[in-house]
Amino acid sequence: MDRQAITLSGGESQRLKLASILGSGLTGVLYILDEPTAGLHPKDTSGLISIMKQLRDLGNTVLVIEHDELVMHEADHLIDIGPGAGRKGGEVVGQGTAQELMQNPSSPTGTLLNQKHSLPARRRNGNGNYVTITNANANNLKNVTANIPLGTITSVTGVSGSGKSTLVFDVLAKNKGCEKIVGLDKVDHVIQVGQSPLTRMQRSNVATFMDLFTLLRTQFAAQPKAKELGLKTKDFSFNTAGGRCEQCEGLGQVDVNLSFLSDMKVTCPSCKGQRFQDHVLSVQFKEHSIADFLNLSVEQSITFF
Ligand SMILES: [Zn+2]
Repeated sequence: MDRQAITLSGGESQRLKLASILGSGLTGVLYILDEPTAGLHPKDTSGLISIMKQLRDLGNTVLVIEHDELVMHEADHLIDIGPGAGRKGGEVVGQGTAQELMQNPSSPTGTLLNQKHSLPARRRNGNGNYVTITNANANNLKNVTANIPLGTITSVTGVSGSGKSTLVFDVLAKNKGCEKIVGLDKVDHVIQVGQSPLTRMQRSNVATFMDLFTLLRTQFAAQPKAKELGLKTKDFSFNTAGGRCEQCEGLGQVDVNLSFLSDMKVTCPSCKGQRFQDHVLSVQFKEHSIADFLNLSVEQSITFF
């Protein structure tokens, strides 16, 4: 429901950001990229891979959600999510180097890679440290446990809807929806390079578009807890001051405080991306907070009425 209605070409904006990051010389960073090759002509993919390798060789970790075969071939480590989409996905069906995946009959991506034979001569093993996600269960994920070797390029692959973005952005980046995540202390920063929308469109999302949000806000304001706290309908809006988090002005993200990354967003440290103040979040309607509803699809939220 909180999905943005209009987005820029994600691939293009990510590549611009990556190129600007390279000059910074920052190390110890876990970069999370969402299909940076999207919309890219195949002949330009090698340039992108070169940027990712330079970031890695500076002492960073690059975790990338990707369908592109060339990127998968060049990655040091692959995590294959699937086997299908939605309920048929959500499991780790293969994990390892491209070589190992190709020998794994249960990995659809390995089977695909088997049809091509242009593997790099050597893989990075990483710096010996790992970020390990244990028993992730968000959305369609089914007790997914995955290892991300630090100091490598690791690609998360699988068909659309298999759970790649859930694992990387909803579980790892938010550190929730799983039993535990070990090893994040070995990383200095986590920087998400998502497919960011135009700034002026940030407040227009699918829910507001469909007036469903107005209905929701009225429901929340009518709850006994809301009345007890003196919260009105407008306090459940992230568009106006009142109940929203003021550090991010209800966006859930803030500009990262580093001059060379001026156009990059990180999860708001004050509300942890929840977009509202704690007392507003404490009000529940059908056992969901207003932030929970914003994380549902329109189809899911309609079932509550
Ligand atoms: Zn905030």
